[in-house]
Amino acid sequence: MADEYKYKRVLLKLSGEALAGDQGYGIDPKVVDDLAEQIADIVHDGVQLAVVVGGGNIFRGLAGSAEGMDRAQADYIGMLATVMNALALQDSFERHGVFSRVQSAINMQEVSEPYIRRRAIRHLEKGRVVILAAGTGNPYFTTDTTAALRACELDVDCLMKATKVDGVYDADPVANPDAHRFDRISYMDVLNRGLHVMDATATSLCMDNHVPMIVFDLTVPGNISRALKGEAIGTTVE
Ligand code: UDP
Repeated sequence: MADEYKYKRVLLKLSGEALAGDQGYGIDPKVVDDLAEQIADIVHDGVQLAVVVGGGNIFRGLAGSAEGMDRAQADYIGMLATVMNALALQDSFERHGVFSRVQSAINMQEVSEPYIRRRAIRHLEKGRVVILAAGTGNPYFTTDTTAALRACELDVDCLMKATKVDGVYDADPVANPDAHRFDRISYMDVLNRGLHVMDATATSLCMDNHVPMIVFDLTVPGNISRALKGEAIGTTVE
């Protein structure tokens, strides 16, 4: 039940890459289903959950502009990619008995609601997962920054950043076996050391607004619930 949880209203940032699984591109239905199963457990226990989904498994604006595309145009394509991921998540959530709403920062009324902060909060209070699509709706931003922004707006207890590693390290743990993992680290240290946890805009937004973040390994089943119960998995950034 909700009392077991340290964090009762949370925002989960899922990168597009997380949805691609081992195939590295597109949406792996097995990954999305495993995720929905984990999410069903915490939502049925009463945790209020908003999800910001990325789009890097389909398209990244920076990659497009590196190929000569206009950057803003490429970023809009990236934002549309996040909408596809959001709809795939919603489909899977529904099949696992989780009620959800997709709210898009770019109006797409046939498939989503517009992002309206007060309405998003109402959905959360009613136990619906709010899947936030299309980033901030503005080019030159990322979905990490979207996650930080919405975390502040929706007054969540923590931002959960799902990754494929078990926290924040002082060096790349894959390339360097001696890399040290932090249990806790301050946002200022993340910025000063240039650690790639989130981009600098997202990091400073969380720092300025005192939103704690947990960086954890999504590939371990049950980790979302463990992190929300306050178990020491991953790294807490605050
Ligand atoms: N994007 C954007 N504005 C936003 C959020 C995202 O322009 O507010 C675009 C940007 O091109 C980005 C793409 O959407 O590359 C996909 O988002 P992101 O790269 O953050 O996804 P992730 O890395 O989390 O999969």
